[in-house]
Amino acid sequence: MGEIPTIQTNKLSQSLLLLSSCECRIESFAYRRSKERYLYLATNQSSNSFELFCYTKIMIIKNATQVGNPVIRKKSKKVSGINSKETKKVVRDLIDSMRHHGLVGMAAPQIGKELRIFVTEIRETNVRTHNKSTDIDGVRVYINPKIKSLSDKTNKGWEGCGSVACAGLFAKVERPKEVVVEAINEKGKKFALEAKGLLARVIQHEMDHINGVIFTDAADKKTYMSREEYLSMVSK
Ligand SMILES: [Zn+2]
Repeated sequence: MGEIPTIQTNKLSQSLLLLSSCECRIESFAYRRSKERYLYLATNQSSNSFELFCYTKIMIIKNATQVGNPVIRKKSKKVSGINSKETKKVVRDLIDSMRHHGLVGMAAPQIGKELRIFVTEIRETNVRTHNKSTDIDGVRVYINPKIKSLSDKTNKGWEGCGSVACAGLFAKVERPKEVVVEAINEKGKKFALEAKGLLARVIQHEMDHINGVIFTDAADKKTYMSREEYLSMVSK
């Protein structure tokens, strides 16, 4: 981020004209001199989203749908057009939004789509700075996922959710330690994945989302903790 540029390039002016004609409001500018690029963030009033533009639109950040919105409690529908433009857009929006909100997983209902799609990316975030390197896992896309098996052994782990008070509430949830999931990836290929550790937990949490279930349904009620208290506990 840097100085606020004056509007001087044709391309930027064109983009601004486009924005002003589609209910978008410019929120902020950034200018990277090294790459001669303008970045600007706009809010789109009609779709309730932030959009980040770089001359032309490059990223859409969706606000995480909050519990109380009916879509969070619906059983999502099977995706029929695996390779359709709509599916590709949902996947892209999910990945961008998951990263923007500092989440390690996000499911389609959380961006208002009743579709059986979720993404995971186990990485360091604002609330996860204490990772073991074994807990890192690159971005994965799961379309029409099915849980094939769950281990008998369970464990309790901390969870929060972008759709529950914008990840402002944490609690311990008991879940099977290992999971085998089958799904279709972003390239339309079927895959099976055996997961353990945090990835297994996140897969189960996201799977719950597409079935209208949220982590607070099964959480140990006595462990509820605010984000601030949770951060102070894990930083010790
Ligand atoms: Zn969640």
